[in-house]
Amino acid sequence: AFRTPLADGATPALAQWFVAKAAHPDALVFFRMGDFYELFFGDAEAASAAIDIALSYRGEHRGEKVPMCGVPAHAHEVYLARLIRQGFRVAICDQMETPEEAKRRKAPTIRREVVRVVTPGTVTEDSLLDASRPAWLLALAPVGDRLGAAWVDVTTGAFGTQSLPEADLPALVARLEPAEILAPEALARTPALAPLAERIAHVEPPRDALRRVSEAFAVATLDGFGTFAPEEIAAAAMAVDYVRLTQAGALPRLSPPVPSGGQGLLQMDGATRRSLEILRSERGEARHSLLAAVDRTVTAAGARELAARLAAPLADLAPITARHDAVGFLHGAAALRGALRAALKGAPDMARALARLSLDRFAPRDLGAIRDGLARAEVMAAALDDAQAIPPIPPLLAAARAALVPPGSPRAELLRALADPLPARLDDGGLVAPGYDGELDALKRLSAGAREAIAALQMDLAQAWGVASLKIRHHQQFGFLAEVPAAAGERLLREAPKDGPQAPVHRQTMANAMRFTCTALAELDRRVAEAGEQAGKRERFIAQHLRRLCLAAGPDIAAAAAAMAEIDVHAAAAELAADGRWCRPDITDRADFAVVAARHPVVEAALARARGPAFVPNDADLSAGRRLCLLTGPNMAGKSTFLRQNALLVILAQAGLFVPAESARLGLVDRLFSRVGAADDIAGGRSTFMVEMAETAAILNQATARSLVVLDEVGRGTSTWDGLAIAWAVLEALHDRIRCRTIFATHFHELTALAGKLPELVPAAMQVREWKGEVVFEHRVGPGAAERSWGVHVARLAGVPRPVLARAQEVLRALEARARGLDPLSEELPLFARAAAPPAAPGHPALAALAELDADTLSPRDALDALYRLKSLL
Ligand code: ADP
Repeated sequence: AFRTPLADGATPALAQWFVAKAAHPDALVFFRMGDFYELFFGDAEAASAAIDIALSYRGEHRGEKVPMCGVPAHAHEVYLARLIRQGFRVAICDQMETPEEAKRRKAPTIRREVVRVVTPGTVTEDSLLDASRPAWLLALAPVGDRLGAAWVDVTTGAFGTQSLPEADLPALVARLEPAEILAPEALARTPALAPLAERIAHVEPPRDALRRVSEAFAVATLDGFGTFAPEEIAAAAMAVDYVRLTQAGALPRLSPPVPSGGQGLLQMDGATRRSLEILRSERGEARHSLLAAVDRTVTAAGARELAARLAAPLADLAPITARHDAVGFLHGAAALRGALRAALKGAPDMARALARLSLDRFAPRDLGAIRDGLARAEVMAAALDDAQAIPPIPPLLAAARAALVPPGSPRAELLRALADPLPARLDDGGLVAPGYDGELDALKRLSAGAREAIAALQMDLAQAWGVASLKIRHHQQFGFLAEVPAAAGERLLREAPKDGPQAPVHRQTMANAMRFTCTALAELDRRVAEAGEQAGKRERFIAQHLRRLCLAAGPDIAAAAAAMAEIDVHAAAAELAADGRWCRPDITDRADFAVVAARHPVVEAALARARGPAFVPNDADLSAGRRLCLLTGPNMAGKSTFLRQNALLVILAQAGLFVPAESARLGLVDRLFSRVGAADDIAGGRSTFMVEMAETAAILNQATARSLVVLDEVGRGTSTWDGLAIAWAVLEALHDRIRCRTIFATHFHELTALAGKLPELVPAAMQVREWKGEVVFEHRVGPGAAERSWGVHVARLAGVPRPVLARAQEVLRALEARARGLDPLSEELPLFARAAAPPAAPGHPALAALAELDADTLSPRDALDALYRLKSLL
């Protein structure tokens, strides 16, 4: 809420502002005054600070100057976009009548009303949207111990629901990345939502939820759409109500809600998504994400669909295989693929145009988008028909083909009706093509005839008034006027006849010219204006007719748009595989995992851009009998890349894409866990170690035998002995109890001793060579354990000064010599007893101090200090 004074004593216009503000206290009020949207009081202060527009003062209210700022109405979308992006909501308060109408009513000021509230989750303007991302509005309704969730994309009409335990909320939010969340206040304060406060609107579930949702879809019962839990209906009602509220009563076209039950999807929590950088990198950039690396779609709708698929890969065999069939078919049919992609390229975004049409907030180009989009769809349908081939078109593509050409397609009518090129705005006129509507053409002829008469009159008047340079011009306010130089004007004022249709009547004196009219001109002016007004009315009528035509076919057009997006995604996946270095994964219903020569698509692309050494492909085999891979190797050797790459293969494969490998046999994964890279929670105030343990706990509690777990450096956030002990126990739990497929990377070479004890554990190591005293990372995963730590070498790479490195080598040798007596692998230590007692603390104080050091997080300066401290202990 913003600083707002009391309303008493306001001027009439300001009084309207107070009414609008009272109805929308947590929104900025954009208050239309003539050519500007003005903001007042606290709104003005907040907006001017947020987007750097000049704050001024105007008049007084209750003895105080009124802070104010404004944005030009014709360009207000730009400012709106910036404010929405910063998390503001904006209530648009428009003028509902002309000044003349207000005068006729004898009203003190023009009537103004809030016509919509623009919020991050309900915008429809292209300029306010990311073309390649869905814009979810997520509503949450707690009922009993369950949570109802409903998510709506107002811009495409997509609508999903789910009932879930509250514990699953973070994963759902991580998957959808909603632009805006609706939640009751108590829920909004929970740890899962609190960090998202600025995206949350406080909304309570309505009491008569079922009636509201049924009404929105004009059905008596929702049974036809599926089975919904009460909490899902409550959430759906919240979403529908909120959309209606923000659109000032209008409801955009929404597809019927689809209850998901959360079934059939690969489960991933927020930490996993962050660590795998699926839609954006850990720094929040879209550029270095998996999506960016694999996206070959050519339309915005296709890009949105691909993003949605990567964010929610499937977990059932049949639908995944169906997608692979589609990609495989287009992979083999290069000519067809080329034809489809050519038709898609530059195709307009029909889904979003349709949303604007349904809200009656459309521009001529939205009608044009439907016309052109449907034309592209027809071209695609023809291409698919021509390709009726061996092998037959797979089911997904056949279904898309069937949807491409809607039965009641308005394309032909739009083609006849719409002018080319289209005007930018309806008010500009010129939407309708000549020949489409007789009445409009007649009005235009009338107007054109009058204009011609005016051109003729210019010559007549020049002669009659004796002013050769006389020009008839059109003025916004005064209509057509004859303009003459000042001197000629003076003469006309003195000498001209006072009667007759061509007698000059003075209207305006300017510095160098005077403007006149006459009855003949005024009559023509009236005819032009009238015809223009009539034509405008007729055009708006036709625009509405065309809009209704599109909406009548709305569901079919939406289906055609979805079919285009679907084909775009499959063709893009095939295109990606076209260089032959991606393969169709063999998806099985068992716990398989065997990939040959696989690559990390993002790192590979980055290396290619840098024109550095090529990416080194690696195999991975987690098949039965060798489910757990224990990976050792120094920093920078490529451990995290290898871990992530195997997780990414699963995401790509289960999203329905091919994978960057020579071959891949992948058993379906139900849950994917990835803990790679920095785990800190600065905002949440938990230590790195605490976060790491919480995430490890999540895995141990949720992973099943069908899961894939990739873990990096469990136990790095604490002392060596602690860390080793925890890593050890986690490894045993994964191996013995959960029995999932796992890649476990570690610094603790001691763990490789488990190889003999855990039958399904297979040690592997990043290969490193020494060459002329330098360490060379081969980025190749080989069998066995890393022989030694290369920390000192990595320190050299990082630029630690030579004398310090030499001294570190010395200390290392000394410590190694002393530590031999304390070998943690010796059978005397209790580590091999499964219920291990905590390991004994090492004896020498220098050893204890060294154990406390975390070599990875030391700055060169800290390392030097630490060395001095160690030396002083010897
Ligand atoms: P670690 O996790 O062992 O510290 P990373 O996986 O972060 O190592 O890899 C370090 C760097 O090595 C990466 O940024 C990348 O440039 C390079 N790299 C990793 N794996 C490969 C590979 N398979 N082929 C080529 N370069 C690689």
